[in-house]
Amino acid sequence: MNIEVSQLAKLPTTHGDFLIQSFKEPHPKGLKEHLVIFTKDLEDIPTVRIHSECLTGDAIGSIKCDCQAQLNYALDFIDDNSGMVIYLRQEGRDIGLFNKINAYALQDKGFDTCEANLKLGFKDDERTYEIVDFIFDYYKIDKIKLMTNNPAKLGGLKVDVIDRVEVKVGKTPQNSEYLRVKKDKMDHLL
Ligand SMILES: [Zn+2]
Repeated sequence: MNIEVSQLAKLPTTHGDFLIQSFKEPHPKGLKEHLVIFTKDLEDIPTVRIHSECLTGDAIGSIKCDCQAQLNYALDFIDDNSGMVIYLRQEGRDIGLFNKINAYALQDKGFDTCEANLKLGFKDDERTYEIVDFIFDYYKIDKIKLMTNNPAKLGGLKVDVIDRVEVKVGKTPQNSEYLRVKKDKMDHLL
């Protein structure tokens, strides 16, 4: 993989003062510019949240899903405890923003989040995590504590996951069905 790494910059946020760096990945679905946000004092075994982009949640505040609440929780958590958020540009479980909106339209007609993606001709989850291995190599991290409710993420990484940190936030009346599908069909622990 021919991955480019940006300079390291400071990023003051409402959650705390972080460092930020971008990783540019040539990808079959187009060039992807990922972000890594981390605290200045990074522990040898850092707490890491791997967050996949959700523009409607992260930026617009959609409560169809729990993405913004999880991202905010992760940024607050690493500010308090030290750690890293890897922000992957794989919108809509990597079907892309345009297709995600079409999937939302199908969900409005009664299909669940998995059925809608399948109906559009995609897998229910198209995401890949090779770039994450590259990022950990880059920072010479070989052991982490992973912030996740998704046990499938625990096995797919090259690093040793020595502990799991739960993220139990973001439940709303509007996303209870979405979270039920994540729990029942995608083996999330909620
Ligand atoms: Zn979302």
